[in-house]
Amino acid sequence: MRGEEVSHATLRGLPQVQRLLETQRAAALIAQFGRTAVTEALRSTLDHARVQARAGGLVPGAEQLLQTATTMLAARTRPGLRRTINATGVVLHTNLGRAPLAEAAVQAACEVAASYSNLEYDLDTGRRGARTAAVETLLCELTGAEAALAVNNGAAAILLALGSVAAGGEVIVSRGELVEIGGGFRIPDVIRQGGASLAEVGTTNKTRLADYQAAITGATRALLKVHQSNFRTVGFTAEVTIAELAPLARQHGLPLVADLGSGNLHDLPGLHEPTVPHALAEGADLVTFSGDKLLGGPQAGVIAGRKERLDAIRSHPLLRALRLDKMSLAALEATLRLHRDDPQRIPVLHMLAQTDAELESRAAALLAALGLGATIRTEGFAGGGALPEERIASWAVALAVPGLSADELARRLRVGEPAIVGRIVDGHLALDMLTVSDADIPTIAAAVAALR
Ligand SMILES: *Cc1c(COP(=O)(O)O)cnc(C)c1O
Repeated sequence: MRGEEVSHATLRGLPQVQRLLETQRAAALIAQFGRTAVTEALRSTLDHARVQARAGGLVPGAEQLLQTATTMLAARTRPGLRRTINATGVVLHTNLGRAPLAEAAVQAACEVAASYSNLEYDLDTGRRGARTAAVETLLCELTGAEAALAVNNGAAAILLALGSVAAGGEVIVSRGELVEIGGGFRIPDVIRQGGASLAEVGTTNKTRLADYQAAITGATRALLKVHQSNFRTVGFTAEVTIAELAPLARQHGLPLVADLGSGNLHDLPGLHEPTVPHALAEGADLVTFSGDKLLGGPQAGVIAGRKERLDAIRSHPLLRALRLDKMSLAALEATLRLHRDDPQRIPVLHMLAQTDAELESRAAALLAALGLGATIRTEGFAGGGALPEERIASWAVALAVPGLSADELARRLRVGEPAIVGRIVDGHLALDMLTVSDADIPTIAAAVAALR
């Protein structure tokens, strides 16, 4: 009984919404967020305070209530998807949005976003035009393919390719290549979704040409080769290359489909990743790859290869559901132009080509700006399913802020504006320079200074 009396008395101590709305602080909030939003925020703050008070908690004063409402309103206007500084040293980090776009790609996307465009309109004839024509020409030029098509992502590219060539029949895949790419995207499921059934050959560690040969029947519709992407089989292993599979496929009139994953177009020094032109030259009839991995463009998927196969894919009913939107299409076209004219302007390729001296001097610059920590040698990764085992020598600043654990320091930088994501190395928060630009240094320094 007594407890209830106390809590009634305490609840009376809470101000009314109306009184809070009349304060100067609320007036400023109303100017910024509007009356409805401010009223709602104050109501919900008061509701929460009432629950706390009933549970025996302290009753907050007007100032504190207004402060809580301010925080709530600020969170409401903060975008859910926001800029993040990637200091993890993983260049293609799927959780951090993979490839940052080149300036030209950003501009191209903005321009078509804010205006009408000739997306499906032929300006010469004034008739309906092909949506991805410009991108297709560039893709053929860059890969040596007869024809190409861009869709929504790499998963869509492989789904569409298999759905078109193999529906109703069997797809032969090595047991060593039945991979899960991430987010539950598994090759056996994609084959099923494409309306085909899976014929597994070989073993986890060894598959030979004779295994493929023996599995070919009247029901076979395609041979599929999948880039192992995010794992490696090491030790006692054997796999059959595209060059070895191509004659077998040709002999039986079957298409050889290669899911390359990363879409590497150039022979990058130090990166032992198969290239798209190489896979096609070796005899793959269709190759599929992502737009936002080593290609360094927007989320997209590409199918490139033989014209007759691409023509069939173009009439597949799923194409419409998997098509690329105009902003991504514009960004992809601009990125492909850079691959042709000036690849070093593509941020992903630029990052991967940085010298040890550049990385070390950026670490030294950050250290000087921070006034604490130490520069350390680290190992970064290309990421995005490319070269999981291949480390890229890099430099980082290892941070320790007195009074903060490494985890707490990492958390505070993550929730800041912009978010900064590093990784914990030997009990310190390491900010890796492989994925940080010179322009990020003052931003990081300011964020760390604000924590001290
Ligand atoms: C990444 C990847 C995919 C999927 O591509 P998304 O663009 O993420 O849809 C498919 N296959 C392989 C081998 C990959 O590495």
